Amino acid sequence: MSRVYNFSAGPAVLPEEVLKEAQAEMLDYKDTGMSVMEMSHRSKAFDQIIQEAEKDLRDLMHIPDNYKVLFLQGGASLQFAMIPMNLMKNKVADYIVTGQWAKKAWQEAQKYGKANKIATSEDKTFSYIPDCSDLPISEDADYVYICENNTIYGTKFKELPNTKGKDLVADVSSCFLSEPVDVSKYAIIYGGVQKNIGPAGMVIAIVRDDLITDDVLPGTPTMMKYKTHADANSLYNTPNCYCIYICGKVFKWLKKQGGLEAMKERNEKKAKILYDYLDESKLFKGTVEKASRSLMNVPFVTGDPDLDAKFVKEAKEAGLENLKGHRTVGGMRASIYNAMPIEGVEKLVEFMKKFEKENL
Ligand code: PMP
Repeated sequence: MSRVYNFSAGPAVLPEEVLKEAQAEMLDYKDTGMSVMEMSHRSKAFDQIIQEAEKDLRDLMHIPDNYKVLFLQGGASLQFAMIPMNLMKNKVADYIVTGQWAKKAWQEAQKYGKANKIATSEDKTFSYIPDCSDLPISEDADYVYICENNTIYGTKFKELPNTKGKDLVADVSSCFLSEPVDVSKYAIIYGGVQKNIGPAGMVIAIVRDDLITDDVLPGTPTMMKYKTHADANSLYNTPNCYCIYICGKVFKWLKKQGGLEAMKERNEKKAKILYDYLDESKLFKGTVEKASRSLMNVPFVTGDPDLDAKFVKEAKEAGLENLKGHRTVGGMRASIYNAMPIEGVEKLVEFMKKFEKENL
């Protein structure tokens, strides 16, 4: 068996330990005589899986009791509609547009009410996070929306925006569980799990319980009401059982690593190895303003698209996969999520140094 170092932005690398455990339990999960893929979502065995997953996530994030944890389908993209459908009582919301995903969320919200773009970094191809200390927050805004870590551009909010008392909604798809967060600062914190937590096909939404009501926009489908899923503990319909099972294993793995404080330390160490090299390299250049650099997604370029392509090709031959930048920006991007071992980043930098010597 030979595994590569996988720098994909998502679906992404998972802890090897988790994959091996799942492999060992594949044919017979805990003497049930069947795989988790084959069992009823109403079974006792699955009930234990989902309850433990929620408990472990609550422990890891110190989620206050007045927040519900929902395991939902439809990807992070479905939340772009679900959020306004459930929250836009005044039909006004303020969006901070720091990348393609925030932009998509903002565009989707326009279908349901007045979605204001109150700040953006599009003027410099989303290479920084704008100053959000004193934004023109709308007086009647139902919420303020951010994408906390911008997967494509490699930027991260280092400080939450001053929402002037309005509820904050955050897409944390690409920084989920990468460092401690104060959940109480958010009204909704949500993310697709396919980057830092598990396989594709599920979103975890942590929603403050006063926002979970029947008072949603007229015409909201039953499946798109938070209340439907909250009332049924994420079992209104058949959930993504296998994904919940793997996420549960990753939560346990994270606890074993020392929790989110330890992950932050480890992620900072990993990112520093790469950023330090980018800062001294004569060939490669990071594309993000230093103060806004993400710990999870690190885009870089040589400045020559042909050389970029050569790098991606040769890196792949050396066992360093999925380093091609997003199709909308080009260049390279290394996603170094929780499950990327430090040796993976060391190997990447070693390879970059060799490539620099050969191509400068
Ligand atoms: N938000 C962010 C920050 C993302 O990175 C992505 C996916 N790359 C999405 C939303 C969309 O996720 P999904 O494909 O699960 O809809």
